[in-house]
Amino acid sequence: MDLEEARATLFATLSRVSHTESIPLAEALGRVTAEPVYAQLSLPPFPASAMDGYAVRREDFGQKEPLRLIGQSLAGHPFHGRVGTGECVRIFTGAVVPEGADLIILQERLAVAGQDDGESVHFEDHEPDESFIRRVGNDVEKGQIICDAGDRLTPLTLGSLASAGVSCIEVVRKVRVGIFSSGDELRDPGTPPEALALGQIYDSNAFTLANLLQHLPVDLVPLQRLADDEEAVGKALADAAERCDMLITSGGVSVGDADFIGATIARLGQLAFWRLNLKPGKPLAFGSIGDCWIFGLPGNPISTIVTCLLLVKPSLQILCGTRPSALLRIDAEMATQISHRPGRAEYQRGVYKQSDESGAIEVRHTGDQGSNRLSTFNGANCLIEIPKESADLPVGSRVSILPLSDLLG
Ligand code: AMP
Ligand code: MG
Repeated sequence: MDLEEARATLFATLSRVSHTESIPLAEALGRVTAEPVYAQLSLPPFPASAMDGYAVRREDFGQKEPLRLIGQSLAGHPFHGRVGTGECVRIFTGAVVPEGADLIILQERLAVAGQDDGESVHFEDHEPDESFIRRVGNDVEKGQIICDAGDRLTPLTLGSLASAGVSCIEVVRKVRVGIFSSGDELRDPGTPPEALALGQIYDSNAFTLANLLQHLPVDLVPLQRLADDEEAVGKALADAAERCDMLITSGGVSVGDADFIGATIARLGQLAFWRLNLKPGKPLAFGSIGDCWIFGLPGNPISTIVTCLLLVKPSLQILCGTRPSALLRIDAEMATQISHRPGRAEYQRGVYKQSDESGAIEVRHTGDQGSNRLSTFNGANCLIEIPKESADLPVGSRVSILPLSDLLG
């Protein structure tokens, strides 16, 4: 199965968790709306001045006589009277336009600068560009949809909701995700290096995966690492599947003697697919145990990261109730050469930049791309996509790049 086919299968298979909850706006950043959210009032809720100046009657404007100043309207302190013939009211941005007035004359348009003596005002003869009045609902009408179901709440949408009088929102409950590392060689990060026995390494995958998912509305369920023991793996997966909406394992999914994840998913539940035509990431398995979805990611740290970004994150977006983001591909020109044999699509780590001279996007890979080499991500800002049919790519070849800023967002 190719990457796009795997993504399409996942997108067609997965759906949002069904539970929703009502939460205050202040706790809603990053959550996903479960239903449309409507404006509780129109914005602005009253006719408001767009400028500092004077509220007048249009028919009075252009007369020779000065207008009589009868009061002022400041933001939060409206003028309660009515503007009659020959009258005006001093007004400021955001203040209520008093009844009777239908035009704001800018304060820069006094006939003589500083001529407002507090009693009468004389304006320069001119044709106003517009009324400078924001009508009721000029921004948002009461009852208008501000957010649709399935919108991820950003600082910007939350600002709109706050301004529209919304205080509580129905959101999809957080998705419960369990992350398992597997392998007898693994130790917790933080263990002093001298305490590592020969053959032991740090478990970086659990740490990386947790951080890659931290922007999503998920609750991470704490889990113990899996030993290389088929029975123990079975018990741990069955138990965690009862408590999680999605399990993500890394390691133990290849065809080695200690690789039990794929077979265990098949034994306890359903294996939807196992192995992709993808580098890195070939041994990936996907399936379910009971109501819990499960991704068996390859253990090589690079494979874990790339498959998480390309497959797990968009899948989780669906469980969270939002739409999976399409992959952003940008056209670029290789500034280094890449060796590639046709057969499998490959995602290499790269650094792109816009050329100072031509303005074109140029990309170079970050050196030897072994899938154990986490250092290939150091300084990288994109994945370079090498299509499966592609042979070696000389300098100057056109490729697509996937910016990490998009994949990590
Ligand atoms: P496996 O698929 O279990 O054979 O793992 C493939 C490679 O990834 C091996 O070199 C493992 O030691 C390594 N590996 C597996 N899990 C992790 C992990 N959680 N953190 C770092 N490296 C890992
Ligand atoms: Mg292993």
